[in-house]
Amino acid sequence: MAGIYIHIPFCKQACHYCDFHFSTSLKMKDRFLIALLKEIDVQKNYLEHENIKTIYFGGGTPSLLTSIEINSIIDALKKYHTISADVEITLEANPDDLTFQKLEELKQSPLNRLSIGIQSFFDEDLKWMNRAHHAKQAKECIVQAQQIGFKNITIDFIYGTPTLSDKNWLLNLETAFHLNVPHISAYSLTVEPRTALAGFVKSKKLKAPDEEQASRQFEMLMEQMALNNFSHYEISNFAKEGFVSQHNSSYWRGEKYLGLGPSAHSYNRITRQWNIANNAIYIKSLDENKKAFEEERITTANRFNEYLLTSLRTIWGCDSEYIKKYFPVAYYDHYIKQSQIYLQQGYIQQHQAILTLTNKGKLLADKITADLFFTEI
Ligand code: SF4
Repeated sequence: MAGIYIHIPFCKQACHYCDFHFSTSLKMKDRFLIALLKEIDVQKNYLEHENIKTIYFGGGTPSLLTSIEINSIIDALKKYHTISADVEITLEANPDDLTFQKLEELKQSPLNRLSIGIQSFFDEDLKWMNRAHHAKQAKECIVQAQQIGFKNITIDFIYGTPTLSDKNWLLNLETAFHLNVPHISAYSLTVEPRTALAGFVKSKKLKAPDEEQASRQFEMLMEQMALNNFSHYEISNFAKEGFVSQHNSSYWRGEKYLGLGPSAHSYNRITRQWNIANNAIYIKSLDENKKAFEEERITTANRFNEYLLTSLRTIWGCDSEYIKKYFPVAYYDHYIKQSQIYLQQGYIQQHQAILTLTNKGKLLADKITADLFFTEI
């Protein structure tokens, strides 16, 4: 089983915090779509003919595409891949694109999951982030998507924003519960290098996010989600029963995936590839039958670190027996030695051979994982 990710590299405007690859000019959209269809053909063997269980349109802003354009991409994928009958097809969408008419058109397509970039239900936060939508649109598009028949909906939130009080963070979550959204992804605001936000923080035009606020709001998030019967199945992801993201879970389970479009990454257990993060060069490369990606072969250390990074973030955890069976003994010894420290301090818990992060450990997930990494000398 494998997944396909399609990166749509266009946005209406640049959110201050964002470091994804995108252009705010849509001038190249048609040429990009031609290049993308060509890439689907060029990369048809990368997944070694595995069944496709998930297709994910990410970005950028995939909801800038028309439903005709989305259908043509799905049709091209069907031409070269065997698609499972129960395939999950997700479209990332922004509220300002999701008019009633657009939602109706999307419902006619094979898409069966919407991932809506809500971020907050408060205009003050949305303005601070430089989002293109308003709070009213955020609520309306969820209600309308449900009326039209989309059941599998996930929304994104950002917490730790200087404008977001604890009270409003709780209200954001309550609104999502009230709207009966079955899946929520919530991310702590981070200041990524080379973003507008990094520049504003450096020049003191905007306040840097407060780590204590972010930790407190993460704890509030975990508490509220548990009270409302969401499973905390990955650090940033929460789902009602039956609504776990199949696509993201396949990344965390180490399954193969093919990434198409500028900046997209691919992995087939033998190599990792990353496409050029430049729309013009991506289009030109495909046009001239040149490679639009770089690649590396997966080393044992890569594979081990990847396994830790993905498994420890999830409810399914890291399996010591798996490490013992599939990695050299030095890796296993290192893993046991390092994990003992965090086990004793209550950051990790053990159930038989499985290690998972405790709630306290989830606050330090990146540091703990980095300490368990194996470096080949
Ligand atoms: S819409 Fe999404 S991809 Fe585009 S700038 Fe905003 S956060 Fe980044």
